[in-house]
Amino acid sequence: MTSVTSAERAALARAAELAVQYLEGLERSRVAPTATLAGLRARLATPLAEEGMAPVEVVDALARGVEGGLQGSAGGRFYGWVIGAGLPAALASDWLTSAWDQNAGLYACSPAAAVAEEAAGDWLKELLGLPASASFALVTGCQMAHATCLAAARHALLARRGWDVGVQGLAGSPPIRVLSSSEMHGTTLRSLRLLGIGSAQLELLPAGDDARLAPATLAAALAARPAAGDHPPPTLVVLQAGDVNCGAFDDFEALVPIAHAAGAWVHVDGAMGLWAAASPAHRHLLRGVAAADSWATDGHKWLNVPYDCGYAFVADPGPHRASMAARASYLEHATEARDALDWTPEHSRRARGFATWAALRELGRRGVAELVARNCRQAGELVERIGALRGAAIVARPQINQGLLRFLDGAAGAGEAEHDRRTDAVIAAINATGEAFFTGSTWHGRRCMRVSVSSWRTSASDLDRAVAAAADALARLA
Ligand SMILES: *Cc1c(COP(=O)(O)O)cnc(C)c1O
Repeated sequence: MTSVTSAERAALARAAELAVQYLEGLERSRVAPTATLAGLRARLATPLAEEGMAPVEVVDALARGVEGGLQGSAGGRFYGWVIGAGLPAALASDWLTSAWDQNAGLYACSPAAAVAEEAAGDWLKELLGLPASASFALVTGCQMAHATCLAAARHALLARRGWDVGVQGLAGSPPIRVLSSSEMHGTTLRSLRLLGIGSAQLELLPAGDDARLAPATLAAALAARPAAGDHPPPTLVVLQAGDVNCGAFDDFEALVPIAHAAGAWVHVDGAMGLWAAASPAHRHLLRGVAAADSWATDGHKWLNVPYDCGYAFVADPGPHRASMAARASYLEHATEARDALDWTPEHSRRARGFATWAALRELGRRGVAELVARNCRQAGELVERIGALRGAAIVARPQINQGLLRFLDGAAGAGEAEHDRRTDAVIAAINATGEAFFTGSTWHGRRCMRVSVSSWRTSASDLDRAVAAAADALARLA
């Protein structure tokens, strides 16, 4: 008997065949899911079976079960939220990652996974223009990258007050003050909450009409210390590289020195915006960002690595390691090599470094630059072309790959509430065509349609289909 049974071989071969079929079908299939909740439950939420079944039958049953219930985000006609597809090499390497089934927590558990991840981290720092001396963690997404970076920030800020949070915990510690802009992404607050920092400690400063935090606003907030006392409170400043509505960038060159002069730790949410560093035409948006203390970004969005994949970087590895490292007598800790669990919140973990390694090898520096520049151009084109349709209005032209449109109710006397309703109705009508998929947002109190392009697969004909779908939706609603 070989170690691979025929049943196992059949299941793996079937999965590969179904995967290719699925990807080939993306061109023709409807983008938005068509299955109902009841339908999906009837197929998938069956009673737990007493008897098992052959692996290949399970694969078939799963593929049948999910039919109509998958969102077409692996394809090129998906413009909702911020969701990337999977590059071929990254996807294939992700399959291998499952086959190899490594525990990438320790070098001892998987030397190859540790070294591939170390290489990916070094490549990412180079590509994103971050200091080579920064520490790195490969986590499940940008939110967990925030949690990792902010744990380091919490450790460092409290240590400066003589408070060892790892030993003393948070009870009785000097409260940390957090400043960010009104455009801050909600995952930052969620990460803070995981770290025992509540919403009452967060002050959202009003961003300007350009969605950026004005230097004077930050300076004034830092000068106005809420707590009386000799010291300013330990302060964390969270800045945006590419906000989720307009893709706006805070002015790092002006803001980081202001925050540092006040003794604050500067964290940057660069879920997508940090990738602008890879494109010579967009790099200027990040001027000054390398002086920050920590940075969080995603691999599963713009780098088109399959889910889950996010990256955390910390300028000073000391507090990063101090807040994460784990030691146990039964583990084998590396001395020369890199143990990922010294840097990540997880203990056992998937060897997700392989997929990032593969994505960066597939694209190369030039390929990443082209992907970023192309998606930015495509987002701009969609905003201009749909925005030129009768009844559409451009709210924000993309600086990178995110823009905003609004649809106006043409009835006499129609006001903002009618335009809001109209905008949501147009989004639903476009998505109902199955030709493209967009999502909405409320920006400055108004409903908008977000235009978000981060798929390597999006082609010129995909854009044509999105514009035609929008024209069709507008005509039908007229
Ligand atoms: C998506 C996103 C996040 C959260 O990233 P996850 O990978 O979903 O955890 C944070 N900030 C911004 C700006 C984002 O777009």
